[in-house]
Amino acid sequence: SAKTAGRNTFRFYASGMNAAVREELELENDLREAVERESFELYYQPKLDTVSGRMVGMEALIRWHHPRRGWVSPAEFIPLAESTGLIVRIDTWVLEEAVRQLSAWKKLGQALVPIAVNVSAREFASGNVLARIEQLIGRSGLPADLLELEITETTLMQDVDGTAPLLSALKKLGVGLAVDDFGTGYSSLNYLKRLPIEVLKIDQSFVSDIGTDEDDTTIVSAVIALAHSLRMKVVAEGVETEAQAAFLKEQGCDMSQGYLYSRPLPADELLAFWRRR
Ligand code: C2E
Ligand code: MG
Ligand code: MG
Ligand code: MG
Repeated sequence: SAKTAGRNTFRFYASGMNAAVREELELENDLREAVERESFELYYQPKLDTVSGRMVGMEALIRWHHPRRGWVSPAEFIPLAESTGLIVRIDTWVLEEAVRQLSAWKKLGQALVPIAVNVSAREFASGNVLARIEQLIGRSGLPADLLELEITETTLMQDVDGTAPLLSALKKLGVGLAVDDFGTGYSSLNYLKRLPIEVLKIDQSFVSDIGTDEDDTTIVSAVIALAHSLRMKVVAEGVETEAQAAFLKEQGCDMSQGYLYSRPLPADELLAFWRRR
């Protein structure tokens, strides 16, 4: 009967949900252990000057090799890290590792370019960012402008007034500031003139539809023009085709990042790419 079917359906969903919850808890435990053991790797994706093709920067992207599941995408574990608070320790590890890597490249005689690090909303609101970065840079002896923070538009929007003094202090320190995933967060552009931001990263959802979706193509041109009129630089994220690259060059986009040039790479492979450029 319908009643029995209903009950069975309920049971099906209930046990399905238990499995999902159990899996999530298990992943959380594994993540906690990974944080304890620092069993992450930092990969680096080049940012290229759109005109000269030179490598002018890079983005650090975390990778987690899970003992049973293999590589787990940050898109999956970063949200979990955020909801459990583990993100604060992860972000700390990423910052330290990125600066350590820069120092190692410097020792090899490499002329350095800035490394961008993603900072989560939680870390950003924690109140520790400034002191941590000040200390880290002080200890490393590297110029502060070799470090850039990528903060998503959504994070910035959460508390513009609270964020402004922190960003100003970071800028005074010399650290670069970029808005990540620009265009996906909010409809008001008012915050842009209130925050000392130097770089806009156009979200890859717009870049991927250049040439195929007229609206997205228009948005990309408009964002480039907007950024330049506010004296900011623009990075296009997720550039995959020559056609996209040609359009971005024609529109005066400053920097490009994407699989067309390189996937995120382990440090040694990044160095090889860098030296070829
Ligand atoms: P994001 O900061 O916007 O990073 C860009 C993402 O796009 C990266 O994914 C990168 O591998 C991917 N990507 C780059 N070029 C292309 C392309 O041409 N095509 C496509 N389809 N994708 C491309 P990833 O490494 O999986 O990271 C996903 C997100 O996870 C990041 O987005 C960032 O929000 C977060 N994340 C990654 N590493 C960290 C980290 O160390 N700390 C924090 N807090 N978040 C991180
Ligand atoms: Mg980013
Ligand atoms: Mg992004
Ligand atoms: Mg993203």
